[in-house]
Amino acid sequence: MAGGNAIRGSRVGAGPMGEVERGETAPRNRVGFWCANGHESRIAFAADIEVPDCWDCPRCGLPAGTDQQNPPPAPRTEPYKTHLAYVRERRSDEDGDALLQEALTRLRARRGA
Ligand SMILES: [Zn+2]
Repeated sequence: MAGGNAIRGSRVGAGPMGEVERGETAPRNRVGFWCANGHESRIAFAADIEVPDCWDCPRCGLPAGTDQQNPPPAPRTEPYKTHLAYVRERRSDEDGDALLQEALTRLRARRGA
């Protein structure tokens, strides 16, 4: 761009045009990601980094993919419910008690022997 002498990289990140990226910085890949909500994100990756298939949309947090026509499906947003259901399914309280009692019983039996 402008003459090379005045700006030799001593002022990286403070170019006259507000440009941050100079020729001296590592080359980058700008990759577009699209989420299921249609948000487009342009993520800059260092050229030597393998671009991931999936990226979290910065706007809504959904997974975003590089294929605009076919973004990754939104995961079901019920982590709280899922966790609760999971816990209920396992009935971990009762099971935990039973296991604890069993362990204690075994421990006592061993000690008493
Ligand atoms: Zn999004």
